[in-house]
Amino acid sequence: MIYTCYEMVRDCRADLPEGWTHFVTYYIPVIRRILGQYAPGQGDDPKLLERVLLAIRKPESSMFNSIEPAPERWFVAELRQKVTAELQAAAPEFEIDLEALGKALAPMTMTEKQAVWFETMRYAPAETGPMLRISAQTVEKVRERAADMIRGTVDAWRRTLLAENGAALGREAQAARGEDCLPAKAFLDVIEGRSVWRDRELMDQHLRGCWHCVDHFCRLVEVNEWLRGNQPLPEAETRRFLDLLGIAAVKQTGWKRLFGKA
Ligand SMILES: [Zn+2]
Repeated sequence: MIYTCYEMVRDCRADLPEGWTHFVTYYIPVIRRILGQYAPGQGDDPKLLERVLLAIRKPESSMFNSIEPAPERWFVAELRQKVTAELQAAAPEFEIDLEALGKALAPMTMTEKQAVWFETMRYAPAETGPMLRISAQTVEKVRERAADMIRGTVDAWRRTLLAENGAALGREAQAARGEDCLPAKAFLDVIEGRSVWRDRELMDQHLRGCWHCVDHFCRLVEVNEWLRGNQPLPEAETRRFLDLLGIAAVKQTGWKRLFGKA
């Protein structure tokens, strides 16, 4: 029987070592990727990782108290929020908000807006292309066009404007959910190649005018990337982190159930 993400959330809530052992083993590698992406220059600082883990572990701030047991992708999306909330973003020198960005990029299509949005999430064209199933060159061209459009509408511009404003734009987009916004399932269907043409058309139309959904879609793509080929921590490393967090060892039977080996 496989130990699921639902069970992990439930067990961490109840502060059982099984839950925390599973969390440490499977999600520290994901946290490292989140830090690598959103803590530029300090992503591989072991002290930063420890600080984030201790913040997650704290009973009063534990993310496990505030979320419902959920499928893995939902859980990882919450994890990203929790980890990035622990990071102090430097204030951008020049600011741009969602309204200004929307005005500047009004003529762009859904895919073009996604290519630009991944820039706010600090993904280079070479990383963005495969995630959107377009070429890196196309991403680069779209971003150059977007830069021209933005530069023509704002007072102060520089090349890193979008990346520097990424955290604030992301928060704004997440809060901008409207009545017609699409559910996560609609985006997952596209990501997994299940959507039909008509859905795709409707989605395209909606996303042209909705940054909330552009953001939601891009972040699900990102989560999907993180989970693809996610490698569990080696046992010795797992034990070291469990010690750091003050988690008792799971009994052999529990270990066997978590990892399928004694
Ligand atoms: Zn929407």
